[in-house]
Amino acid sequence: MSLTEIAREVRRCTKCPLHRNRKNAVPGEGSPKAEILLIGEGPGQNEDREGRPFVGEAGKFLEEMLALIGLERKDVFITNVVKCRPPNNRDPLEEEIDVCVRNYLYRQIKEIKPKLIVTLGRHSMRIFFPQIRSISAVHGKAYKKANQVYLILYHPAAALYQNSLKEQIKEDFQQIPEILKKI
Ligand code: URA
Ligand code: SF4
Repeated sequence: MSLTEIAREVRRCTKCPLHRNRKNAVPGEGSPKAEILLIGEGPGQNEDREGRPFVGEAGKFLEEMLALIGLERKDVFITNVVKCRPPNNRDPLEEEIDVCVRNYLYRQIKEIKPKLIVTLGRHSMRIFFPQIRSISAVHGKAYKKANQVYLILYHPAAALYQNSLKEQIKEDFQQIPEILKKI
């Protein structure tokens, strides 16, 4: 099963109620051989319009951070927990997350086999670390679980307008090369 086939399934998916309000599903994009897989929360308005992940202000900030470590979008793979935009950008519901992740995200991970999974924000973190309550205690930390390494980061959209968080996420992000070297 290729990433292209998974993306095709995502675009016509009706497995959860989020399909009803979407303009475009957002499967994710980047290198199929990426060492780094970045996982955000879900499409916003811009992403829903374009069918691509992180194309708004948060996306611009994410690109700036990638540039800090000498990378571009095409060098990594970028996707989200849920592939369709929740109405009015509300948080995705537990059931929506479960269905979407089981059907698509886990399969994308199996295809890409990233060295490092970078979770962006609370929802992304909770898929892999449901027991962690507060992201503020663990952001910037790398964890190994079932032979997969994860780095937990704040969500770029949350950090964007809060200067202390913005500096923090940039600092956390810049650990990526060092973490990759150790894997
Ligand atoms: N925020 C996300 O979590 N994902 C996107 O694709 C864009 C903004
Ligand atoms: Fe399907 Fe995921 Fe979209 Fe729900 S959010 S309709 S499970 S692709």
